[in-house]
Amino acid sequence: MHRRPRAPIFYIIAIMARYSNPAIILSIVMVSLIFSERGKSMIIGYFDGASRGNPGEAGAGACIVDFDKGQVLWKESKYLGKRTNNEAEYEALILLLRELLQRKLFNCVVKGDSKLVVNQMLGEWKVREPRLLPLAEEAKLLIEKTRARLQWIPRQENSLADSLSNQAIDEAKKSKKQTDHDVAKVVARMVSDYIFVVRDGQEEYAVDLKHKNCSCPSFAVEKNCVHMEEALKEKNQK
Ligand SMILES: [Zn+2]
Repeated sequence: MHRRPRAPIFYIIAIMARYSNPAIILSIVMVSLIFSERGKSMIIGYFDGASRGNPGEAGAGACIVDFDKGQVLWKESKYLGKRTNNEAEYEALILLLRELLQRKLFNCVVKGDSKLVVNQMLGEWKVREPRLLPLAEEAKLLIEKTRARLQWIPRQENSLADSLSNQAIDEAKKSKKQTDHDVAKVVARMVSDYIFVVRDGQEEYAVDLKHKNCSCPSFAVEKNCVHMEEALKEKNQK
């Protein structure tokens, strides 16, 4: 990253001394302020959307990086449910713009690797897909409010936002698996004195309490399982 030199400010001050018209002085001061701010502030927002299936399980990732302080100011990873890739990209952009607005970070550069979203937001491409229209409208409004400057970057330069969007899908899948597991009740049914059939979700396993064995895959590895415990509980209740 190279910074703008400070020299123009002094040059501008020298010009100011020559022209006494207040309007000119005011506009020169504003221009010089913008110049100096531009050199100072290196806050960049990144966004990325991911969809596995298009439409499929989708996630939005966004982050704000302060390159002067060398720190990530904010990052977010949001699971979206079933979305197309372009919908996920727009939702990621909206997520980022809302955060910029809330933090009152104006005039920031916002980067993403979606050519469609960037070109549509720059007004170079038309928004044709009806399902994208409301998203594009919201994003446009937020761009006006934040005065964010959109820029396209190649995918490999967007790795943080990319991993955040994928992380959202992975975590949602993981927690769904956990819920499925919690919901699936393990029920043991006695067959004989020491043989039980244990139902676990869709599967049924045979537990032999006498020989301490279960036909499930996890017993083969761990030498213990929930089916064995459930069969024991059932036996003790009898
Ligand atoms: Zn088992």
